[in-house]
Amino acid sequence: MWNWFNDHSFEPNKDSTLAVREFGIKSDYPKLTAGTFPADEFDCWEFAGISLATLEGIGVYRAATEELQSYLLITAVLEEDSREVIHFNQAKVECKIHGRSRAAFVCQHLNLEHPKGFEEAFETYKGMGLSEDDDFQAWCDECEKVRIRNNGWNEYAEEFARIKLVCEYCYFELKRFNIA
Ligand SMILES: [Zn+2]
Ligand SMILES: [Zn+2]
Repeated sequence: MWNWFNDHSFEPNKDSTLAVREFGIKSDYPKLTAGTFPADEFDCWEFAGISLATLEGIGVYRAATEELQSYLLITAVLEEDSREVIHFNQAKVECKIHGRSRAAFVCQHLNLEHPKGFEEAFETYKGMGLSEDDDFQAWCDECEKVRIRNNGWNEYAEEFARIKLVCEYCYFELKRFNIA
């Protein structure tokens, strides 16, 4: 299965594999354009090789478990102080859905069933850099009312909000759904 076809993959770079599909369309090679098809280990290395050439990669890494073999294309070596490496080092939360990411905090009321508003400690966008003392933090409209009535976060407002830990990706899903 090509990663661009995999709805359960949240790899930030997954769409770059669409370039291999483009190449497959131009070369009239169906296995580069079909999302999924039967293949053995040797096929996979060959497709990884085609991807390496198409995307100008520098190597391929295979991660294997008993049921699954993933072929990961390495495209760059990052500087130790690059944004991506800093993000990775800050990643402390292991989400069942999204894997490892930075921590984010939301009130107990926010979910993906009913939109409840989305107040943030500061304006955020996906993938933004955070300083060491900053965290993604958001709460619902009801919590905002309680917070204002209490002149800011105090014991009572915090008890009402019962802030919980979520992953960065869950945070932005909640933001998209709950924002007015
Ligand atoms: Zn709330
Ligand atoms: Zn998550």
